[in-house]
Amino acid sequence: MISARAARWREDRLSAGASRTSIAGVMADERQLVLIVEDEANIASFARMYLEAAGFRVEIAARGDDGLKAAEDHSPDLVVLDLMLPGMDGYEVTRRLRQGKGGQVPVIMLTARDDAVDKVVGLELGADDYITKPFNPRELVARVRAVLRRAAERAPEAPASPANATLEIDALRIEVGGREVYADGEGVALTPKEFDLLVTLIENRGLVLTREQLLERVWGFTFLGDSRTIDVHVRQLRRKLGNHCPIQTVWGTGYKVPVAR
Ligand code: CA
Repeated sequence: MISARAARWREDRLSAGASRTSIAGVMADERQLVLIVEDEANIASFARMYLEAAGFRVEIAARGDDGLKAAEDHSPDLVVLDLMLPGMDGYEVTRRLRQGKGGQVPVIMLTARDDAVDKVVGLELGADDYITKPFNPRELVARVRAVLRRAAERAPEAPASPANATLEIDALRIEVGGREVYADGEGVALTPKEFDLLVTLIENRGLVLTREQLLERVWGFTFLGDSRTIDVHVRQLRRKLGNHCPIQTVWGTGYKVPVAR
């Protein structure tokens, strides 16, 4: 489902790696690059210290807009992104990162509040994980490693439907390759995760998928903790698609698209 973007990202990574090698000439720097976007200098330098000790290269940006530019210029392997930033907030940085070149770069969000809404909104925008401040820098290093490992393992999932497939359920039509959704002929704008979630459920029509299975298939990993992310996305799909949303809640289990409606 994420295959095209993931593949593009991997290609970008490969070519970025290759150009680093050729420019550096003699010795390529094989260390993975973590970009920290954080305006609190002490937090940023503390995180840098631990990440460098763990074998990463680190760049720091103190403003959201600078962070976005640094991400475009340096093609980091991972971005640690504070939410509240001067210039541009973390939500907006994530949104633009996801739209730009290398849009698949893993993002770990730093959130000051232990606020479920922030986390869910962050994940909905495509953050891969989040950490609540204040955090233990060892935990940050562990999360960075885990997210990078998952990103590397994220197999280019072959979509069950061929790229040119059209899925139709009543008046709902989905052009899989073009990632377009029409309800009664009207185009409906879905976020990438909403689209993937909808297609995954339709491709498994008749089967109940648990929240964990959906996280695994749509996010490409088992996200530790918040399966409410799925509920939030289903709610959004129902809001956007109204009566055309084919997803049924199976209480205590998960969700399904029934074979017949
Ligand atoms: Ca901040």
